[in-house]
Amino acid sequence: MRRNNSHSMVSRIRQLLQQIQPWHKTKNNEYRLIYELIEEQVEKTPNAIAVELKGSYLTYRELNSRSNQLAWKIRKMGVQPNDIVCIMVKRSLQMFVALLGVLKAGAAFLPVDPDFPEERIVYMVEDSNAKVIISDAEMEYRFLSFKDKVICVDEPDIYDHDTSNLNKVAKASDLAYVIYTSGSTGKPKGVMIEHKSVVNLLYGISDRIPLSEHNVILALTTISFDIFILETLIPLALGLRVAIADENDQKNPKSLCNLIMKSSADILQITPSRLQMLINHNKNLECLKNLKVVMIGGEPLSEVLLEQVKGYTNARIFNMYGPTETTVWSTVADLTQRNSVDIGMPIRNTQIYIINENSKPVTGGAEGELCIGGDGLSRGYLNRPELTAQKFITDLSAFHEKIYRTGDLARWLENGNIECLGRIDNQVKIRGYRIELEEIENCILKFGAVKQAVVTAIDGKESIKYLCAYFVSDDEISVSDLREHLVKSLPNYMLPAYFIRIDSIPQTLNGKIDRKALPPPGLISEQSNQKNHQNAETLKSEDIELKIKEMIRDTVDGITAIEQIDVNNQLTEVGINSITYIKIVVLIEGQFNFEFGEAELNNGRFSIIKELIDYVESMIKN
Ligand code: AMP
Repeated sequence: MRRNNSHSMVSRIRQLLQQIQPWHKTKNNEYRLIYELIEEQVEKTPNAIAVELKGSYLTYRELNSRSNQLAWKIRKMGVQPNDIVCIMVKRSLQMFVALLGVLKAGAAFLPVDPDFPEERIVYMVEDSNAKVIISDAEMEYRFLSFKDKVICVDEPDIYDHDTSNLNKVAKASDLAYVIYTSGSTGKPKGVMIEHKSVVNLLYGISDRIPLSEHNVILALTTISFDIFILETLIPLALGLRVAIADENDQKNPKSLCNLIMKSSADILQITPSRLQMLINHNKNLECLKNLKVVMIGGEPLSEVLLEQVKGYTNARIFNMYGPTETTVWSTVADLTQRNSVDIGMPIRNTQIYIINENSKPVTGGAEGELCIGGDGLSRGYLNRPELTAQKFITDLSAFHEKIYRTGDLARWLENGNIECLGRIDNQVKIRGYRIELEEIENCILKFGAVKQAVVTAIDGKESIKYLCAYFVSDDEISVSDLREHLVKSLPNYMLPAYFIRIDSIPQTLNGKIDRKALPPPGLISEQSNQKNHQNAETLKSEDIELKIKEMIRDTVDGITAIEQIDVNNQLTEVGINSITYIKIVVLIEGQFNFEFGEAELNNGRFSIIKELIDYVESMIKN
């Protein structure tokens, strides 16, 4: 194998770096546990604010005491290391008490997004064999069938328990959490992450990114997405203040901007989709100005977005790359001084291999599948030995360690960084969420009359992808019935914006589905965003309806003509999701010159389009 000089030098440096004894292990080469590091921080800064939400907060001491009390209660329910405790609470200070409480009890947490449909939640609780479910007063009713397992974090009697730290029962090789990601077989799969991987992430990130007790980080990500760990456990182990974004801040770019300013957050972790939305829908981006660090990751970052964000902030900008299976982030690139995007180099105790079809490392800068080894590696998929064997290569003769096949196409650059070139399978990211298209297809196929189904992700307006479902059926199918069927088991972000019935699924010459030959859902119309300077108060009801329909047409992927919109349609039926809803709100506010109320900013507020139109009319005419 011939390599040019720069490539061999880089490999040598990599080799040397890997020989350095990791300094965060104990003398017996055991990792500490993340909550032990947080307990040490509690000793150092007991009175500093650990978490805050809209004016209420918990200091490090208070958070520690409360989570100890909860942990005692969890232990009393007989929970052992490697047992799973499901957490489903609304975004609150208690969410942090729950996370820490489970770890201190010695168990592993399974975070569940309350927005998930009932069927998915029940599946996760049953598949994981969760021993305990931590819920709150608002969510408790959703677990009636698991009544005996539920602890409600709002119950006052929990806080009669002892506030002192518990004796340690879990080891670094025990599970810290399980996160479910979309599964190609039609059901989500649980990725098992051990304590040592979380602590490795802590040091791997703090090696490369300046994070200290003086910083304030936003907890913005939904609980079921693994990057949430970087906004919760990691900052707490480093003494930062964590400002929680609530459900409204997550959905509404204006509230998010206000929160960044109000909380004085200076560290932000964000997906490119959310960052794009923040930039597109705020006239004033003062909120980005005082940031010190922006970690962008979870999906490909474009050079255009990188350039755009630099125009608003002098913060250091990092591109973060990693799959859930290797613990949040595996590589980091500092792009502050750069115009081109790559995913940088691996964090400590992490090895990257780029392999060819024969599972051999590629030479030079050839393209291949990106594989990851090291201390961040997951134990595998819960209850899925076959899938685990397929995705994790354990042939030690080839790589001297177990490695995870990411399904990402990548290549080494001459400077030793890695460039990510897209996917080699049907996994896509929609608004930062990881989706296996086969999971949606399998779900569509369960709808009786459908014979075949294919789902594709299409580049839509403002570079945001949307899903389009194609199906074959003998008889006409009601799209609302089909959608209703999907809503029962798929989260919102997995619902296709468009359903198209076709005669047959096109195939390539070798018999595979020819996704490129699928008919596009229609040419997306030109943005007709020009302002109509007509006086809003004098507008007739029909004009208001027409304007709103135009805005929907211009915002929702797959809608090309206003005739496709029936005012009696549900918002979700025409493909309006939480992100497109906010875009429509911003357009309406700009056009009619009024601000939506707090409650109306929530897309769940209006079920059918007519209700939204009536609300706008009432606001204009008042
Ligand atoms: P998840 O398990 O949800 O974190 O998704 C992991 C996948 O997201 C990776 O395998 C990549 O396909 C994609 N991904 C994550 N971060 C990046 C990034 N910075 N650049 C490109 N793709 C990314």
